[in-house]
Amino acid sequence: AQLDTLDLVVLVALLVGSVAYFTKGSYWAAPKDPYASSASTLNGAAKSGKTRDIVEKMDETNKNCVIFYGSQTGTAEDYASRLAKEGSQRFGLKTMVADIEDYDYENLDKFPDDKVAFFVLATYGEGEPTDNAVEFYQFFTGEDVAFESGASADDKPLSSLKYVTFGLGNNTYEHYNAMVRQVDTALTKLGAQRIGTAGEGDDGAGTMEEDFLAWKEPMWAALSDAMNLQEREAVYEAVFSVVEDDEKSPEEESVYLGEPTASHREGRAKGPFSAHNPYVAPIVESSELFTVKDRNCLHMEISIAGSNLSYQTGDHIAIWPTNAGAEVDRFLQVFGIEEKRHSVINIKGIDVTAKVPIPTPTTYDAAVRYYMEVCAPVSRQFVSTLAAFAPDEDSKTEIVRLGNDKDYFHEKITNQCFTIAQALQSITFKPFTAVPFSLLIEGLNKLQPRYYSISSSSLVQKDKISITAVVESVRLPGASHIVKGVTTNYLLALKQKQNGDPSPDPHGLTYSINGPRNKYDGIHVPVHVRHSNFKLPSDPSKPIIMVGPGTGVAPFRGFIQERAALAAKGEKVGTTLLFFGCRKSTEDFIYKDEFKTFQDQMGDSLKIITAFSREGSEKVYVQHRLKENAELVSELLKQKANFYVCGDAANMAREVNLVLGHIIAQQRGLPAEKGEEMVKHMRSSGSYQEDVW
Ligand code: FAD
Repeated sequence: AQLDTLDLVVLVALLVGSVAYFTKGSYWAAPKDPYASSASTLNGAAKSGKTRDIVEKMDETNKNCVIFYGSQTGTAEDYASRLAKEGSQRFGLKTMVADIEDYDYENLDKFPDDKVAFFVLATYGEGEPTDNAVEFYQFFTGEDVAFESGASADDKPLSSLKYVTFGLGNNTYEHYNAMVRQVDTALTKLGAQRIGTAGEGDDGAGTMEEDFLAWKEPMWAALSDAMNLQEREAVYEAVFSVVEDDEKSPEEESVYLGEPTASHREGRAKGPFSAHNPYVAPIVESSELFTVKDRNCLHMEISIAGSNLSYQTGDHIAIWPTNAGAEVDRFLQVFGIEEKRHSVINIKGIDVTAKVPIPTPTTYDAAVRYYMEVCAPVSRQFVSTLAAFAPDEDSKTEIVRLGNDKDYFHEKITNQCFTIAQALQSITFKPFTAVPFSLLIEGLNKLQPRYYSISSSSLVQKDKISITAVVESVRLPGASHIVKGVTTNYLLALKQKQNGDPSPDPHGLTYSINGPRNKYDGIHVPVHVRHSNFKLPSDPSKPIIMVGPGTGVAPFRGFIQERAALAAKGEKVGTTLLFFGCRKSTEDFIYKDEFKTFQDQMGDSLKIITAFSREGSEKVYVQHRLKENAELVSELLKQKANFYVCGDAANMAREVNLVLGHIIAQQRGLPAEKGEEMVKHMRSSGSYQEDVW
């Protein structure tokens, strides 16, 4: 009978899940996040008035190759740009890059057969399209594909479309590269002709870049055959013209000194605030949650009062960081532009289809400090492109070797966790003055905002968003220096400043804390809010099980805060079970005291089960505790508990998923596969939710 109950729950849940799936959550979908289109419109380029007809656009601009991207964090967009450049420089293709949401697909059956379309598509979350690819995905994978011409799927309407596709995924997620796989199947079914293999890059295995490099060579060979292309020696052609304007002073109001948009620059920033228009929010309080030396975990309270921004418990906040002064200096020195760092530069796309990712006019200093991801891991392909601009023959030879020899590159660059400037410094101390600034804009990503799971409840503090962030500062084995996360060290510096603490960083990192034109003075930081589906059940009497070790506890602090407030108001609150893990109860058990207060408000309905990995003789993690408490977990699931996991995607979340399958199978006397299946059902029905990174 017990089994029947759960089966029934699962069945109902499955049904609800299917509705959710087929409607793509449109019944309850959060408003679409404009950040979806990735941050390429940093300069606020208006989208209106442009054609959404790709066939017409390519015709008008004389292109024979379009590279669409579906990107969330900018990597797919970066790969798209790189393919465009390579296609143009090595094979003479007339390429353009296109945000997949900027065009319609209803006339792709008119795509000329002497052209080619690339689809570079990231898979997001649980096998979903990135926000900017949702419509495209729905169009091709929905029930009926409706082309403008009225052609039906049976007519093989895409038989003139040649396409190339590469997916960006993460094998730690169940639906690995689901996006590219499904789109590829759909396009093939409609008669389109794929050139080369449907490539798949795996972020989970850390091989994305190498997967991409290994995929693209045979793809280019196949495309050359299909389109009769002649390979030629690639000669660098700048995508952007970067012109210094000696007449203009950086103080002039028209110059972007790090402001995210024109209205910020003009000092009249106003809402609606979004991923294209961050709100410069005051940090009203900041503190540290660890009591150990050399490890820092920040708690910050960010006010959104009066901004018209709102959030719901379980949402994410994005923080727009600033690069560390020392890294900005290093970058400018390495490329020989330190002396003229404050010169005003105008950046323009040489081709009409090229989008300038940096607001312009700006200065070299502002570009590097606020707009470019200069500290990220380095790509082998990008390093190769610098060979032509090396300061001497020896460095050139070394760069060519690094570009050609994957293992050597790993040993010398990847394993050292170098930034691009550190990598070049490891080759020679001579500056790379010949590198065109355009090449740097092309080869490096835009500085991306980082997301944080909001750790407060919107019911309790609707105008104040809490974040819980561990400061990234890692000395990796074999690396000669300490790798410092961009955003978290910036936030640490803001916290130190706010609290009047001495210099935060033992390694001398300092930041332009006051921001462009002192606009962030008084401890402000640009933010936007991203709505998520990671949500408490609407009925608070439903039990919940949360697994959140380390900073994975962030959203659960918000969940518990909310339920404690409801309990204090006399509402019936269901069992609220948290599995929390850290190293030691005395060191990194964050929010320990607060949890005690919540316990007072919630009594027995709040249960916190801890796992301390460095206290006993054996390492104990949350998944062990979960197993030990199988009976309780199973019982709560029977009472329709929602199950939540937050934190480390690579190991913890995967293990927890497995353990839960075992628990269900074992507690109900079912075969192991059935347990796994039930967890899958819980996922699709929304009763198993993950917020992992
Ligand atoms: P980054 O500069 O982005 O670096 C990240 C890591 O990359 C470094 O630790 C390092 O290991 C590696 N790295 C950096 N540079 C190099 C290099 N040159 N070579 C090799 N490796 C390098 N974090 C939290 O603390 N709390 C949260 O609540 C939280 N919630 C999140 C929610 C979501 C939905 C997502 C997607 C992420 C969340 N994160 C959270 C993670 C957070 O967004 C950031 O990724 C994290 O804080 C690190 O950011 P950073 O800018 O400090 O580090």
